[in-house]
Amino acid sequence: MLKKNIHILLIEDNPGDVRLIREMLKKSKLAYSFDHAGTLSDGLVKLKEHAFDVILLDMNLPDSSGLDSIPEIKRVASKIPIVMLTGLDDEETAVSALQLGVQDYLLKDRIDRTLLLHSLRYAMERKRILDALAESEEKYKNLVDNSLVGVYKANLEGEILFANNALARMLEYSSPEEMMSVMALSLYKTPKERRNLLDILIKTGKVNNFEIDAVTKTGKTKSLLLSLTLNGDVISGMLIDISKRKQMEETIKHLAYHDILTGLPNRLLFIDHLRLALSQSSRNQHMVAVLYLDLDNFKEINDSLGHAAGDQLLQAVSRRLKTCLRESDTIARIGGDEYGILLPHADNEEDIVTIAGKIISAFQQPFIIGNHTLHTSASIGISLYPYDGADVETLLKNADAAMYNAKKRGRNNYRFYNPAMNARTLERMKLTNSLRNAIESGELVVYYQPQVSIDTGQILCAEALVRWQHPEMGLLQPMQFIPLAEETGLITQIDDWVLRTACTQNKTWQKAGYSPVSIMVNLSSRHFQQPDFVDTVSQILKETGLEPEFLGIEITERTLMQDIDLTIPYFNKLADTGVRFCIDDFGIGYSSLNYLKKLPVQMLKIDKSFISGLSTDPDYKTITNAVINLAHSLKLRVVAEGVETEDQLSFLQIIHCDEMQGYHFSRPLPAKEFPRFLKPAC
Ligand code: C2E
Ligand code: MG
Ligand code: MG
Repeated sequence: MLKKNIHILLIEDNPGDVRLIREMLKKSKLAYSFDHAGTLSDGLVKLKEHAFDVILLDMNLPDSSGLDSIPEIKRVASKIPIVMLTGLDDEETAVSALQLGVQDYLLKDRIDRTLLLHSLRYAMERKRILDALAESEEKYKNLVDNSLVGVYKANLEGEILFANNALARMLEYSSPEEMMSVMALSLYKTPKERRNLLDILIKTGKVNNFEIDAVTKTGKTKSLLLSLTLNGDVISGMLIDISKRKQMEETIKHLAYHDILTGLPNRLLFIDHLRLALSQSSRNQHMVAVLYLDLDNFKEINDSLGHAAGDQLLQAVSRRLKTCLRESDTIARIGGDEYGILLPHADNEEDIVTIAGKIISAFQQPFIIGNHTLHTSASIGISLYPYDGADVETLLKNADAAMYNAKKRGRNNYRFYNPAMNARTLERMKLTNSLRNAIESGELVVYYQPQVSIDTGQILCAEALVRWQHPEMGLLQPMQFIPLAEETGLITQIDDWVLRTACTQNKTWQKAGYSPVSIMVNLSSRHFQQPDFVDTVSQILKETGLEPEFLGIEITERTLMQDIDLTIPYFNKLADTGVRFCIDDFGIGYSSLNYLKKLPVQMLKIDKSFISGLSTDPDYKTITNAVINLAHSLKLRVVAEGVETEDQLSFLQIIHCDEMQGYHFSRPLPAKEFPRFLKPAC
């Protein structure tokens, strides 16, 4: 197959042999060019200057002998095939030459044209195959180096033994060599990810198309698709960068769940969030509010100014609505000019009313679109889970109906689906406002109820109980405003005021010469969550001059159990000053007996429901008796609340209850009536 011109170099010092070979070549039909060197050094020069296809090399040259010539030639022309020319007696050496990489050898004595040509052909063919092989190796190397697939080898210890260019590029290393200087572990976002993969690999021998988060040299995270095989303790890995694909997927997902114009979640996502909120709420007992908002005059704006202005208005409205909401709320565009707002943790109606009010007022400022100043307003319908519906569809339908009601009532307002809610909300809002005023304008009053020893009938304490002298509604009992005060946070102000008033009053009685009693004050759970709670109480004691041992604080069981580990230090700090603690309404909550031991509590008040039950249900006797025994074993004094009859009192005496409080002895009284129970100090 040798069609092209063959460039032959003969390195031979014997002119006779040179001639002979020339002759043979001339007589052949070979297309060739011929050059000749008489010494090895001459031959090397020629090899450097010209390209040859084959070398005919004499074994014995004047400047080199035997096998020494071969490495010299290989150094300058490693890929050119060599055919050795040897004498008969050199045959053994010639075989060694073959081992050194010579293609063939010819015995000078036996050489003829056919043999020479055959040998040249053979050498040439071999060169061609070698070239092809080298070329294919090069191609393969390029393929690995330049492919988009990252390829690497590592051992189980995590040393990278090989990495291709693609992998280095993928992970932002300057070269495969630089990659090989780091450990495989540092390429994973979490060591756990590598450990998991290795576990699978060791068990099964391979891992296919596994998505991992890899970290690049500059610390970026990339999503890679990884396939691994294990051979002995060598891991071969192939990696494809799927970060772009992931981004695309994210974009597609975003588009499917968002409104392109405003970037807000769309109806689908809104429903998803609502469904999630409902399932969470049924677990944690929160209310969920769905607000359906419709712009009042959007159609007119759109028709008169065109769609582009309409679109800009929707975008501006969306931005403004977002500022009215909390991070956890969802606002979605669910139709042309309709928005859905989800409040997943609505603790009380006030929160919802506040947000709805905030949204309505957000529309008071006009929107500037191009050179137009646009005035628009919104109508909002509100439905509440679980009251107005138990599922997504019903809640949406009812919020929508409420929104139409808001439109009917003159637009630019909000309506609850439940008509009673509308009335109640108004009433509560009015009440909240006037309660806020009540504290400032001195409408609150404290009544005092005596707490007496069952054995001696002696007065030991007075419980301070707040009332509200409402200008229109008359004297309001705590149950009519304390829950509202707790919801709105006003309770801390009320309690502080009661605490200060009661301490002042107690000190006044002492100064007036009465024998001292303790004043018991009820504090709501909100107090214990305030870091300055201990300071507030100490400050009030200091200001009023009341010694701490004449103050008792009543806490309900429920309050006690909230964040108990956090609040124990507060209790201890106050108890150290001499203030006493009493557990109120004991029996209806869920105190853990374990905690009772840990707390600085001296007194326990059995809830009045147990005392009123004494006359009707024998079980209550058993329970009350058990509670008293238990309290005594924990060295606590027991007070029975709500004692109304002689029978109740007698029973309590029999079972050794320590103190009692109730109408049987006295109702709560205004401060000026209380001294009738106090004795002069001796
Ligand atoms: P409490 O701390 O358990 O107070 C005892 C309640 O039982 C008082 O109701 C008292 O008037 C009532 N009571 C006393 N003896 C009898 C009786 O023989 N029969 C009946 N049926 N009831 C009796 P009041 O004053 O209406 O207070 C109700 C609750 O409001 C209190 O229960 C307390 O939890 C809360 N409270 C009152 N004042 C304050 C305050 O200043 N701050 C806070 N946070 N809560 C207060
Ligand atoms: Mg109480
Ligand atoms: Mg009580």
